[in-house]
Amino acid sequence: MPGGSRKVYHTYTMEYGGTTICVRRKKVKYLYLRVKKDGQVILTAPLGIPEDVICRFAQDKLPWISHQQNQWKLMQESIQPHTYETGDQFMLWGEPYTLVLEEGKKQFRLENGKIYLTVPSESTWEKRSQYLKEAFRQLLLERLTHRLPFWQEQMGLYPNQIQVRDMRSRWGSCQTQKKQISFSLGLVTKPQECLDYVMVHELAHLAVPDHSARFWAVVERWIPDWKARRKRLNQADIG
Ligand SMILES: [Zn+2]
Repeated sequence: MPGGSRKVYHTYTMEYGGTTICVRRKKVKYLYLRVKKDGQVILTAPLGIPEDVICRFAQDKLPWISHQQNQWKLMQESIQPHTYETGDQFMLWGEPYTLVLEEGKKQFRLENGKIYLTVPSESTWEKRSQYLKEAFRQLLLERLTHRLPFWQEQMGLYPNQIQVRDMRSRWGSCQTQKKQISFSLGLVTKPQECLDYVMVHELAHLAVPDHSARFWAVVERWIPDWKARRKRLNQADIG
């Protein structure tokens, strides 16, 4: 294993079919790959090794990476299983909400820290989980369509399309050529200030595709305390 305290000489990210790999060049002997609990993929590589060797190694390991990410996801779900019964807790916009099930025609509303979910009496755990996921997706989409135009105008950057996806390893992504921005469904659990940070981050990619100093300067111009917000964003409590 590479020593944690060993100096990192160079860090950058690679992208393969939706998987982001963070490459860390260090004084190590071998290539070393690991998937963190949050799904993040870290590849540690010796300083002198050619780029194409790293790329080949990463590509060969893609099936293993996605297997590993699924394992973590399953483990997380088994640690924090939702019952989708009355009393179940969910985080929304950084606040805890309690589920209240009611019988009837499918309906969803939020009121005083409670999620009222009306479902047919014969609804199963899967059905209730699906209803809720869909309701959360709508909630996030509504907030995005309400808030994103503000940042678009401030920054003068306009995506062609936005979508909400059930991504576990990232909060957002931007396909700069198509000008398409995706937001993780998990953002619905996070405070507004974190959502603002992710919006600005992804919009900034329309101007600067990579994570260079130039990119962070754009982010910082609009969100001076982006570091604090990013930290809060990555604090555990995926609901
Ligand atoms: Zn980014």
